[in-house]
Amino acid sequence: MEKLVEKKLLERGVSVEKIAEIVYLLQERYIKRLTINDCREAVKAVLKKREVQHAVLTGLALDVLAEKNMLPHPLVDIVKNDEGLYGIDEVLAFAITNVYGSIGLTNFGYLDKTKLGIIGRLNNEKNKQVNTFLDDLIAAIAAAASAKLAHSQKVTDYVDDQSG
Ligand code: MG
Repeated sequence: MEKLVEKKLLERGVSVEKIAEIVYLLQERYIKRLTINDCREAVKAVLKKREVQHAVLTGLALDVLAEKNMLPHPLVDIVKNDEGLYGIDEVLAFAITNVYGSIGLTNFGYLDKTKLGIIGRLNNEKNKQVNTFLDDLIAAIAAAASAKLAHSQKVTDYVDDQSG
């Protein structure tokens, strides 16, 4: 299932590597000796969770169905246009951030505002494909992977820790 999810994400233009880059940008300030490999491993661990896989498959299916005009009216236009008051894309993404608790949620909020890395590109290429769910799913996976890394650190590994 994990491989299938990676393949589906790749079909929509997002590799594990690109998500790992966002995680690195989020966490390099906080974790000593963080490597892109640590970030890649954290993203892969998040993608192993069944709840995450289900959220990704559901969101991507809705984007693709909207693109093909196969969703019923009025949902098809709401999803295609990513209407301002349609927050279900974010709500679905919470299924991913919730797996790793409150750090996941605050990181998600930060990414939603700053649109770091590939999230910004997904947000700008909306004329090419429907990314209404995809951008939030990617932000949530990156946020959850960051939270996982943060939770796995010993307190003394934190860059700002006074006792280190
Ligand atoms: Mg969205």
